[in-house]
Amino acid sequence: MTVKTFILAVFLFYSFNFTNGQYWQQAVDYKMSVSLDAETARYKGSQKLIYTNNSPETLHKVFYHLYFNAFQPGSEMAVRLKNSADKNGRFKVSVDSLSVEEQGFLRVSNVTQDGHYVSTEDSETILEVTLNTPLGPGQSTTLELNFQGQVPDVVRRAGKNSSEGVAFSMAQWYPKIAEYDIDGWNSDPYTGREFHGVWGDFDVKIILDKEFTVAASGYLQNAEDIGKGYADVKRPKSKRGKVTWHFIAPQVHDFTWAADVDYIHDTFPGPNDVTLHFFYKNDPEIIENWRKLQPDTAKLMAYFNSKIGPYPYKQYSVVQGGDGGMEYAMLTLITGGRKYGSLFGVTAHELAHSWFQHVLATNETKHEWMDEGFTSFISTLAENEILKENREFPLEGSYRGYFNLAASGVEMPQSTNANRYEHNYAYESTAYSKGAVFLGQLGYIMGKEKLFETLQTYYKEWQFKHPQPNDLRRIAERVSGLQLQWYLTDWTQTTNKIDYAITGVENKEKGCVVLLKRKELMPMPQEILVVYKNGDTELHYIPISLMRGEKENTYSIEWKTHKDWAWANPKYDLILDRSKEAIETIILDPSGLMADIDKNDNFYVSSKEGSN
Ligand SMILES: [Zn+2]
Repeated sequence: MTVKTFILAVFLFYSFNFTNGQYWQQAVDYKMSVSLDAETARYKGSQKLIYTNNSPETLHKVFYHLYFNAFQPGSEMAVRLKNSADKNGRFKVSVDSLSVEEQGFLRVSNVTQDGHYVSTEDSETILEVTLNTPLGPGQSTTLELNFQGQVPDVVRRAGKNSSEGVAFSMAQWYPKIAEYDIDGWNSDPYTGREFHGVWGDFDVKIILDKEFTVAASGYLQNAEDIGKGYADVKRPKSKRGKVTWHFIAPQVHDFTWAADVDYIHDTFPGPNDVTLHFFYKNDPEIIENWRKLQPDTAKLMAYFNSKIGPYPYKQYSVVQGGDGGMEYAMLTLITGGRKYGSLFGVTAHELAHSWFQHVLATNETKHEWMDEGFTSFISTLAENEILKENREFPLEGSYRGYFNLAASGVEMPQSTNANRYEHNYAYESTAYSKGAVFLGQLGYIMGKEKLFETLQTYYKEWQFKHPQPNDLRRIAERVSGLQLQWYLTDWTQTTNKIDYAITGVENKEKGCVVLLKRKELMPMPQEILVVYKNGDTELHYIPISLMRGEKENTYSIEWKTHKDWAWANPKYDLILDRSKEAIETIILDPSGLMADIDKNDNFYVSSKEGSN
């Protein structure tokens, strides 16, 4: 073995075995140049993509997303919006009503593999490319193409002429290679929902009229060419002429930009030498809020760093654009004319996505709750702390959202593909509310400290690896020493519900017995607070046998651990030392973190015999 082959062997060993127990990651290296005509909103460009197949399989085809083709009358997205069981409130404009100028499209031509033309098949938002030379495990190939597009009006997330007058919100604008991962090809047609992508490096040149200011994923490479400098409040409008903005974004799975002639551009120092950028319209109504947002965004980033782990890039931009708010690599597009609480809240949510959607990047089409739910969980806690809201139960809104869903009759299992829900309402509540409750309740099962230890370990071990639900569960088990398969199964793969009740209290020869009942299918460990008439309190804990362990007591008062509650038995006798007459009240789940759908039967009050 020569030194060279030895090095190669070591490299191969590490690239295939280092990630033992984890998943392969394909790699992309994009070089793009795009020129946008601001008058017609047409753009054209070229793309050179070095694509590396790190999977153990030989690829004969690759797929690209052409998202802007969804913004046409009669598209699959338009049809889906018309036929869903309830209205998707996030679409304010009907796609079918778009005029030719208002529509979007993205077409590719001259697709080559290593310099040779390849055959392609276009099916609206997906382009199928048959490779001339199959791509074996560990091999790279160069794919080149030209593209031409039209920016649609802002109907959803991206587009031109936003309601607040932002000229261009350029998200999902380029031919984007689909992810090939442990689930195979992720080439779902776009119907207005979620994204999944391949990590890699983006080198992007954007050519447009000089008077525009561009906000983008990645680091600007040529501030000196731009004119008076990137950080200037506003560059003077010159009449004619184009300028090229050159950005490099390393290790991202998406590249987004926005452009407007009226952007104010501020920077603010964030934690760990991160520079925060803010781009917003020169509109006197919003300027004060957007200034106030800057130090608060730094606080948000510090909060997420401390609770989950360090943000890995050196830049993040909050950009006025799009509709509502949407997370992208190293930036967010959000609407700007909001009351301060709302501006801060949306920024908190979209920034939190950087951890869950851009660094961990669970497939949000398949496991939407791990993205939207976890993001909602952590941003709600951050808001409560940074805005000093001091809410005792900050996740109350998420729990309420879940309870409404559970009672709605239209709930589907959380493992449902984001595109397959019958009701938009059920998708939204399942992804956001039930997803946030998943973590709130995991904190109930294992304790708050262990929950955050789990999140930190999960982030450290699974960043840039597209984790699956089971990967989080296995870490939670390792951190807590508890078995949690039952929790993941019942909560995410079924619509089983939690409902426990106190059905009575009966005196025994010595002491009394509290009669407990599991009224629904989903099991949960029980925490029970007993308050005696003399003022004494006792905390009782009943693990379930499926856990094969017990939570550590994280409360300030001692608790008594009882024998396990076996799942098969819907009833349980909790034995207390004192008589029924000594008891003032008994409360099931005093923390409120267990998502019990009917709390009316969670109490026993002495004056009210046989509470129900
Ligand atoms: Zn979100």
